[in-house]
Amino acid sequence: EIIDRYRGTKGALLPLLSEVQVACGHWLPANVLAWIADEVDVHLSYLYGMATFYTMFSLEPRGQFIVRVCESPACHILGTQTVLEALREELDIDVGQTTPDGLFTLELSSCLGVCEVAPAMQINEVVFGNLTRQKIHEVIERYRRGDVVDYRKLPGSGGRVRTDWEIHRRAILLHGVGDIDPESLDDYLAIGGYEALRKAVLGMSPEQVVEEVKQSGLRGRGGAGFPTGMKWSFTLPLKAPEKYVICNADEGEPGTFKDRYIMEGNPHRLLEGLIIAGYAIGACKGFIYVRGEYALSMHRLRRAVEQARERGFLGQRILGSTFSFDVEIRSGAGAYVCGEETALIESIEGLRGNPRVKPPFPGVRGLWAMPTVVNNVETLANVPAIIKNGASWYRSFGTEDSPGVKLYQICGHVNAPQIVEAPLGLTLRELIEVYGGGMKDGIPFKMCQTGGASFGFFTAEHLDTVMDYASMQKKGGALGSGTMLVMNEKTCVVDVVRNIMHFFQHESCGFCTPCRRGTRVLYETLCRIAQGEGRESDLSLMVDLAQTMSATANCALAMSPIFFVRTTIERLKDEYLAHIVDKKCPLGVCSA
Ligand code: SF4
Repeated sequence: EIIDRYRGTKGALLPLLSEVQVACGHWLPANVLAWIADEVDVHLSYLYGMATFYTMFSLEPRGQFIVRVCESPACHILGTQTVLEALREELDIDVGQTTPDGLFTLELSSCLGVCEVAPAMQINEVVFGNLTRQKIHEVIERYRRGDVVDYRKLPGSGGRVRTDWEIHRRAILLHGVGDIDPESLDDYLAIGGYEALRKAVLGMSPEQVVEEVKQSGLRGRGGAGFPTGMKWSFTLPLKAPEKYVICNADEGEPGTFKDRYIMEGNPHRLLEGLIIAGYAIGACKGFIYVRGEYALSMHRLRRAVEQARERGFLGQRILGSTFSFDVEIRSGAGAYVCGEETALIESIEGLRGNPRVKPPFPGVRGLWAMPTVVNNVETLANVPAIIKNGASWYRSFGTEDSPGVKLYQICGHVNAPQIVEAPLGLTLRELIEVYGGGMKDGIPFKMCQTGGASFGFFTAEHLDTVMDYASMQKKGGALGSGTMLVMNEKTCVVDVVRNIMHFFQHESCGFCTPCRRGTRVLYETLCRIAQGEGRESDLSLMVDLAQTMSATANCALAMSPIFFVRTTIERLKDEYLAHIVDKKCPLGVCSA
């Protein structure tokens, strides 16, 4: 039945394997893989390659409930090890094992995308955050009793949201989040939903839409900050049998959780932005590629697509215009590198998510070799407001370099980790003190990783930096995805950088040697330093190696370590040296 359902859907191997895995009880038996290979006419080695690339697949039997503990930097500094110890005791198994009754399998996850409630774990589709030993005990007992949480009935995001930069009156990206029923199209229409789409397809040419977005100064909110209108303008004039627009909802950058709020809290807003983007570049179809861990986002987006089709916002001749467009939701399966746009395209095509060699860029030759625009969720969520209110209105927020509004995320050692919508240009100090509720337990600030796990560290001297693209970069940080991981003076920099490096060496796709080996060597060097076996020469060697990786590897994943390696060695060198000279962690944090 599952195979039949996917017959004729191009590149659907990933969703097919995901569904088969659920049907088989959370794993893919060898005989089932062989049978699928036969049915869909691909070589078994190819399917094996897929199943071993994506971490959410398993070739070994697993329990009824997969308990996945988040080991991202935010969870790490707030207690991943304590959570793991508690679960080991509670379940009497280690990571990778299944309880004898077949109920629970314990696993690690690179990042669950829920840093505002760190430390966290996920049981099948449901996240449990702010974990304590007591809470873990209660949750496990609950599942033992068969009292299983249905993720589709969860309220989702909308809890800790700050949009009070003019007391909700002008919140753009989070408009409706936490207030409307995310599964009601009528609720979205009641707050002005789909008015921008109507204006675009009935009153503007694609060129005018692209020009409006260009004039707004909107830059990609996924991390790179490339001007959105310019990206669209490369693809618009191209003649091709088909064009595509893809929403990159594979929010895998540790520290980042903003896109989930939009998808769970107001999925129609993203959908409206995507349809407008499709109209602007002349696309016939759109995809939303959602990370595998975000089950509730996927559920709500699927509902939104169905509703939009029923009411004429999607499908043939949208709103009576000549524009036809449809959207398909695709799920990832646990590969951070699929957030890189060409890896994401490979994944939609039903391949392992290896980034392509560029050029050609996707705007010219993307999905199935057709011109394809890839935009992040937050980027697209800005579009309806820009079309509705105009570019100059949008430019009235933010700074000259970075116009508009941004979803900042603050997590780590603050009293109120949360998501904040504000005009671009807040300072880090404001974010911590006004929105983050100050430093947790009053313990002084020490450092902050800016923009996500891929970028540089700030120390106290950078607290008043304006958080826009140019100012952050000038100071060795980055706006990136807008996340700020705040750490107090009890946090060991070597321990944190080692954790981040572990993430990168784990997520390297292995395609090119500088990254595959380089991330490994950097991680092993950091382990030696953490264990008191480092040499002073290791510090310059790490900077050289990270620089070489950045210059020679194929994609942005290998270009990331140089930022956090260099800034921490430059700014917190004494702490590295203390590990090397005294042969131990001065804060007593690092362990073997
Ligand atoms: Fe893969 Fe790393 Fe090479 Fe990117 S840089 S293609 S992640 S091995």
